[in-house]
Amino acid sequence: MLFKDVVGQASLKNKLIQGIQNGRIPHAQLFLGKPGSGSLPLALAYAQYVSCINRGENDSCGECSSCRKYASLTHPDLHFSFPYPSKVKDDLAKDYIKEWRLALHENPYMDYEGWMKFRDAENKQGNIPIRELRAIIRSLSLKTFESEFKILILWLPEYMGNEGNVLLKIIEEPPQNTLFLLVGEKTDRILNTIISRTQPVRVPPILDEELSAYLQEKYELDEIHAKRFALMAHGDLNLAISLTQETENPYFSQFRTVIGICYTRKMGDAVKWAEGLSAQGRESLKGFLLYGIEVLRGIIIYSFHQKDGAWSKVEADFIRKFDELKIPISHLEKIVKGIEDAIGGIERNGNAKMILTELTFTIAKNLRK
Ligand SMILES: [Zn+2]
Repeated sequence: MLFKDVVGQASLKNKLIQGIQNGRIPHAQLFLGKPGSGSLPLALAYAQYVSCINRGENDSCGECSSCRKYASLTHPDLHFSFPYPSKVKDDLAKDYIKEWRLALHENPYMDYEGWMKFRDAENKQGNIPIRELRAIIRSLSLKTFESEFKILILWLPEYMGNEGNVLLKIIEEPPQNTLFLLVGEKTDRILNTIISRTQPVRVPPILDEELSAYLQEKYELDEIHAKRFALMAHGDLNLAISLTQETENPYFSQFRTVIGICYTRKMGDAVKWAEGLSAQGRESLKGFLLYGIEVLRGIIIYSFHQKDGAWSKVEADFIRKFDELKIPISHLEKIVKGIEDAIGGIERNGNAKMILTELTFTIAKNLRK
């Protein structure tokens, strides 16, 4: 994980990087932040930067042998520990390292529930048992393989229980060149004895403007939507992403309305709908009509393959229900043609209300078996 791939957190990244460059590398740190703020990705980026052979001013090089092993999470001096629901007697976290790597590649921002879901263990309780803690002590007592430091990333010390006290001695007097990076969420569920022996790194929620910029870039959202989601997510990246995925295309409800009106042949409502919509600007009207064509094409494709395309959940549900009406494809194509004509009319500055009213009649006529 490179620092640049961690969303936002500019000022904390800067502080961490400065610390490493100035040789201030505390041997035990506790990254604390709520899920979705990025405490685990930050700990990973920190560990990679410490170990990078070709450290840049602001980030790891991403290319040296250490960075390449970090990218695949397979560096021999990088140790992980995390809660897991025991499957067989005496199992250790390292027995699940492949799943752990996959889960982290998929979403380094995952929370405990996400990890349990990934492991198909939603109804099981995970923990970090004493035998795992003893295994940590054993592996950290070994010499380093390749790097100056051996680093333990221990995710969610909340799940250690009182057994966590067996780590106190090694945290207090660690073997040479050993770094403990604990990554937790809630101080009130972590042993006080652990907290008092680690240097806290408080990971704040991602700033609204950082989150908004990320959503615009990664999810191609416009500024208004991105800002709205960022505000609603309170700095939680996972929540922000789930909000963007549930979002309803603003044209969708309009489209669903007009289809409903036309299907039930409430033509009085159709005229009112046309009147209401015609008050919108021409560009927006055109956008809506193009969207309508897209959905109809989606319905036609679905009727052939029964496969959902790249639709939101509400859109996919709508398409499936529409398909159950068994409207002939030739009728759907006539509706598409009607919409194309309407777009042409709008582009030629025709009367929007009349164009839309006419369109509703075309739709109504063709929404029959
Ligand atoms: Zn490197």
